[in-house]
Amino acid sequence: MEFKEITRIIEETAPEGKITKVDVEGPKVILYTKDIGFFVDNSNEVRSLATSLKKRIIVRSTSDSLMDPLEAKKIIVDIIPKEANIEDVEFDPCFSEVRIEAEKLGLVIGKRGTTLDEITKKTGWTPKLLRKSPIQSETVRSIRKMLFENGEERAKLLKNVGRKIYRKPDSECDWIRITPLGGAQQVGRSSILLQTPESNVLLDCGINVAAQDAERFPDFRAAKLAISELDAVVISHAHLDHCGFVPYLYKYGYDGPIYCTEPTRDLMALLVLDAVEIGAKSQNELPFGSKEVRDMIKHTIPLEYEEVADITPDIHLTLYTSGHILGSSVCHFHIGEGLHNMVYTGDFKFGDTRLLEAAVYEFPRVETLIIESTYGGRYDVQPNRRDAETLLIDTIKKTVENNGKVLIPVFSVGRSQEVMMVLENAYRFNELNVPVYLDGMIWEATAIHTSYPEYLKSHIKHRVFNGYNPFLVDAFKKVEHKERRGIIESPDPCVILATSGMMTGGPSVEYFKSLAENEKNTIAFVGYQSEGSLGRRIQNGLSEMPIEDNGKTKNLKIRMNIQTIDGFSGHADRRQLLGYCKKISPKPKRSIVVHGEASKATNLSATLYDMFGFESSAPRNLDSIRLI
Ligand SMILES: [Zn+2]
Ligand SMILES: [Zn+2]
Repeated sequence: MEFKEITRIIEETAPEGKITKVDVEGPKVILYTKDIGFFVDNSNEVRSLATSLKKRIIVRSTSDSLMDPLEAKKIIVDIIPKEANIEDVEFDPCFSEVRIEAEKLGLVIGKRGTTLDEITKKTGWTPKLLRKSPIQSETVRSIRKMLFENGEERAKLLKNVGRKIYRKPDSECDWIRITPLGGAQQVGRSSILLQTPESNVLLDCGINVAAQDAERFPDFRAAKLAISELDAVVISHAHLDHCGFVPYLYKYGYDGPIYCTEPTRDLMALLVLDAVEIGAKSQNELPFGSKEVRDMIKHTIPLEYEEVADITPDIHLTLYTSGHILGSSVCHFHIGEGLHNMVYTGDFKFGDTRLLEAAVYEFPRVETLIIESTYGGRYDVQPNRRDAETLLIDTIKKTVENNGKVLIPVFSVGRSQEVMMVLENAYRFNELNVPVYLDGMIWEATAIHTSYPEYLKSHIKHRVFNGYNPFLVDAFKKVEHKERRGIIESPDPCVILATSGMMTGGPSVEYFKSLAENEKNTIAFVGYQSEGSLGRRIQNGLSEMPIEDNGKTKNLKIRMNIQTIDGFSGHADRRQLLGYCKKISPKPKRSIVVHGEASKATNLSATLYDMFGFESSAPRNLDSIRLI
């Protein structure tokens, strides 16, 4: 739909004289009014406009009808009950918004939103609520601050994006194709180019942390597409193999939006910045810096689950929960006004976990399914969760009885918090009583989790809302770099959760070097170890390795227990992948299998044809597939 058409419909249907201006910000339509109270009292007017336009509509006061911030602040503080514990009230004239940060948002909202409505009616400002997390996240804080301070730039940017989305299309959508630029027949550097005659959209843009040189990044040169010609980038989730290369786009001419959930934006900022820093310290420098990471954050347009957004003239995007990590999404694309519907699973879990709900499998329409295959091999059946949890707790108990230490290498985002919830449960039932040290970025990632409890599984969410935060159990101890030696040298048993998850660097490798030669200790792998990573080599029985020790090379003998505990993965295993394809509704005609080693991807693809009759393939990188 063109911007002109949107304006025309609004002028024809909106109540006479109430709208002074229509504009767009990204996919959202903004209506300016001098009488916001009217729209608060007649919310059905906005709803019916949104239905007829099929767009998200925001009604906003014109700048001359906003109350002076000082006066408005007094009224707001007066209206909101004290028990809400307001942390901060800030006014953003670029968006006619007042940001209210508080501990108990329910009290700020009031019964059916009455408190919010009262604020808007009395002051003209539209409240935007921010949850004060019980664990302060430096990432969340600095992102919020940066976006606030750059309000004007961001307003301009959103307006430009909006005008491009609602432009007059040059051509009709008579073909659709996808091309994997990375992450096909492999795990790492996921990136898929979705093209129509009108649009170029990138789904994910990751790096392969375990690879070298050109193999680390998606293949843009071969794509024969100028980066500046991209219309939009959609990020399924914050793991580096899906988002680690996004800042590069801003270095080489991209000036458009990133679509993802709000927690994905924050986790992505944390992980990508860390990768930049680690790269700068090693020989493996990334071809961009922190400036481009800031550009990425500024250009991110967060979407909520199940919010339909126009992202180009012929593509609508909707994100659904995927059960993999906080904020991770299954992405649904509605292309060419009903011509074709495509679901990209990203990484997903279709089973029970402690942290998140399972992936959504019901969609309005779906013809093509792009599905991951990390555990797509014929024998990739994971034990059930209960058995995995029992094995983990038993492994810890046994090592602790032996006075040993348990090292669990984990991704800072996802497995860490999942394992923390399992340990919290064991503590609650007095099954464990040793300290659990969290090293690397785990604490910060956990703080981001507690900032977005609404994205967590409902029972954790309710516990958090009722004042019991399972991430704040006494046993969990954040480790500063200088405390590491003390933990290693202490004779007392403990559990250490440390990054990186595949031991490609970071504290997990440091702990390993110090703990490996003592047979009382245990290393427990709870996540996927990719080909070529140190984690995979240890798992496969590596018995010794050369290490640097005080400037000399020494041969490290690996004597500690090596335990692989399957069943904690955030990925669907073979059974769950097939279960998902059985349940997905409506039934797709075609499946495209990506994000798995070659043998697993091709095997799953063949099985999907045999079992469900999908026209199926497991393309290599750069194999284009025409969907229409
Ligand atoms: Zn992932
Ligand atoms: Zn992945």
